[in-house]
Amino acid sequence: MKKLLSVIVLLTVSISCHDNSVYYEDAYIIENISIIDPNDGFKKNKTVVIKSNKIHEIFDSTKKELSKKNIIYSGKDKFLIPGFWDAHVHFAFDESLAGSMSDLFLAYGVTSVRDTGGEINFVNKFKHESEDNPDTHPRIMVAGPLIDGEYNVYDGHSHQFPPLSIQNVTEKDLYKKVNILIDQNVNFLKAYEMLTPNQFQALANIAKENNLKLTGHVPLSMDVISASNMGLNSMEHFRNFELSVSKDSKELLKKRKRLLKNLQNFSGAKLRSSIHSLQRMSAINNIDSLKLNQVIDVLVKNQTWQIPTLFLYRTFANKTFKLDSWMEYFNSFPSDVRSDWINKISKIDDKINKDRQAYSNWALGIVNLMNNKGVQFMAGTDAPIFFLIPGLSLHDEIAMLSEGGLSNLEAIKSATYNPSKYFGMEKELGSIKPGQIADLLILKKNPLENISNTKEIDAVIKNGNLLNRKYLDSLLRKN
Ligand SMILES: [Zn+2]
Repeated sequence: MKKLLSVIVLLTVSISCHDNSVYYEDAYIIENISIIDPNDGFKKNKTVVIKSNKIHEIFDSTKKELSKKNIIYSGKDKFLIPGFWDAHVHFAFDESLAGSMSDLFLAYGVTSVRDTGGEINFVNKFKHESEDNPDTHPRIMVAGPLIDGEYNVYDGHSHQFPPLSIQNVTEKDLYKKVNILIDQNVNFLKAYEMLTPNQFQALANIAKENNLKLTGHVPLSMDVISASNMGLNSMEHFRNFELSVSKDSKELLKKRKRLLKNLQNFSGAKLRSSIHSLQRMSAINNIDSLKLNQVIDVLVKNQTWQIPTLFLYRTFANKTFKLDSWMEYFNSFPSDVRSDWINKISKIDDKINKDRQAYSNWALGIVNLMNNKGVQFMAGTDAPIFFLIPGLSLHDEIAMLSEGGLSNLEAIKSATYNPSKYFGMEKELGSIKPGQIADLLILKKNPLENISNTKEIDAVIKNGNLLNRKYLDSLLRKN
């Protein structure tokens, strides 16, 4: 008994004398940082342990003493948010820029993208490169080509309309071509504007059978409610939304169906733009607020996500790409792409189109109503269309969603948690929780105070790999 007591005494002494500090093997630690989780919001003074490619543990910085042996980064006065998604990009739009896009995305804190249209072998090349190098490349989810109708818009006949789409004359045609895409492991499908209702239905059925999300533009032959009910899971650019909420929406649809017979034998691009110019502005000047509310209710009920690309519309309307300050960002591009873009811009006149401005303002104006009713948003840009800088433009889109009525936290959520949820990946990506993949951004300023602080990136963590400011600048070809 005496012996046992002395053992206990000895044991107690040895524990109390022992160093209480904790050591995390094969890990690094960010200490004293403010966390901004898209769902749980702001939390001060947290310590985050990153082990291999995951968030291993999160605790109050006062709670544990860390051993000096740990690799520790100070997070003092800094803010940790999930890495951003750009939910609407096109690697294939400018093939000579495509090879630089992954670097640009990462340098601007975009750790995942959704490629919403491009030739499948071309976009898959970048997707596979990123899968092989997840520590240094953004994650890429691909739709493959736009799935369009007989008069397909992106037919490759002009540089403005590179061959991003596949033409489908019949449903059988569509069934065959889409199944080939599915064999090439597309992550979702994209419906385009010239599909017939029957083709759209066939496409929605294939998407459902294969458990794939179907995104797209509402086909001109349809209205928003039927497209959403048939299985359109997300809408890009609010495209053709206005045509369904106008007081004369029924007559407009009838007229469109006549025009879509294409008796004048226009190209797909010309046929589409002629219909837009005939109907878009007259619809916007004639909105039926009851219909608007009804359509939004359907979008909420069906959980039809919206990717409004507000910054694209504003850029298109105001031609801000003509500013010297804008073109300075082209210095991060390969020099041939830079001169090509500057040359293309120099050929665009300075005239401001009032209709485009009105449309841009209208799109911005309905965000608040939709958000209040419960429509779910994703931030997406359409880069590099209209000279949008890959990565950088995402920050402007987030800021515009906030301008449109989302809170700063909701705007951040639209570019982090929401796209992860859209792909059913929210348990592994898009939040700041133990077990999540460590795709994170360390910011120097608080984006909840000012949304433009999302641009104040101190470091990007991709798949657990910490890329400091110096490395990010090297991706932008800065010294
Ligand atoms: Zn697009």
